[in-house]
Amino acid sequence: MALIRLTGRHAIGAHTHAIVDDDMVDFLLQWRWKAKPNAGGNNVYAVRNAMRDGKHVTLRMHRIVAGLSHDDPHDVDHDNHNSLDNRRMNLLRATRSENTSNARQLMQSKACQHCGGLVVRQVSALAASKPLTCDQCKLAQRAAQRRRRRARELSRRTDAATRGAAPGAPGAPGRGIGHVNGSLPALPTHGGTARARSSRSCE
Ligand SMILES: [Zn+2]
Repeated sequence: MALIRLTGRHAIGAHTHAIVDDDMVDFLLQWRWKAKPNAGGNNVYAVRNAMRDGKHVTLRMHRIVAGLSHDDPHDVDHDNHNSLDNRRMNLLRATRSENTSNARQLMQSKACQHCGGLVVRQVSALAASKPLTCDQCKLAQRAAQRRRRRARELSRRTDAATRGAAPGAPGAPGRGIGHVNGSLPALPTHGGTARARSSRSCE
């Protein structure tokens, strides 16, 4: 956590600094940041002035930290209601679309639960307490899963081949008797189960 000093006549009292993640300081300090109340005057934000297409615009620090462009339709809320706390973990991204208005998104930076590397990801606010896995560890997990699946498949095939090579072994297909298990649907039933029928007919 680091503080960025704000300028302007509103940079007084509780509004002298914005709170940011350590790794954002160098990037954000490229510009001067001003404390500016919103239209209602109930919140003070860290902002800077810029030119966009020949027009003066006000860029809000929290939107930049959340990775939103100036004209992105998403809103960003401050989870702890401190409008100057612009750490990623405090920024909730909310779309203005009705459908997803309840699916609030949270910018999170956490240590990967496997390798400890930093993971920065947008997650549902509901899943905010769950551990994160970095992309590399996810890929490694998927590769390990595939390897296990292949090994299982291989051992299944080896088992089947072993059974096939020993015709007298229990469970081996009744080769050489003229039929195999599972090809007996036309046999008259005597109330026995399929397994009982097929083993009887193999004797
Ligand atoms: Zn990892």
